[in-house]
Amino acid sequence: MAIFPIRTFPDPVLRMRASPVIEFDEELRRLVADMLETMYAAPGVGLTANQIGVASSVFVFDIGEGPHHVVNPVLEETSGSWTYEEGCLSVPERYWPIARPAFSAVSGVDVFGGQVRYEGDQLLGRVLQHEFDHIQGTLLLSRLGRRTRKQALRELREESMRSA
Ligand code: ZN
Repeated sequence: MAIFPIRTFPDPVLRMRASPVIEFDEELRRLVADMLETMYAAPGVGLTANQIGVASSVFVFDIGEGPHHVVNPVLEETSGSWTYEEGCLSVPERYWPIARPAFSAVSGVDVFGGQVRYEGDQLLGRVLQHEFDHIQGTLLLSRLGRRTRKQALRELREESMRSA
């Protein structure tokens, strides 16, 4: 297993829609193992493949109940509303109160192609939606209100220019 550098905004790979996985092979199992190791090292509660530069439709998560992964996830349903101070490993050390549906359900398959489904509210519901967004090439910045987003983008651009 290996720990990979996590891609951060404005890396274009984070804006790419991930491609469906079609080969359920050893390489996929290694990818999931590497993603889990990278997520735990960060530390974080969720990670998608594009965050380590692999444009495959895979995410891993652990909200304290053990490691899970979903290949080719589909967001099946959402309901309710919940505001949470949300952060992202690809936009490090920043948190914004973001309102999203409280409950969500995601289905997909595991590394062997078997059906999986995860559902929950509050933190689990949030992680599932956040990771599914990454699969679509959407960052949490897109979930901010117009004014907050403009200010966040300005700050992040200034930061990336300073570190460049
Ligand atoms: Zn994220």
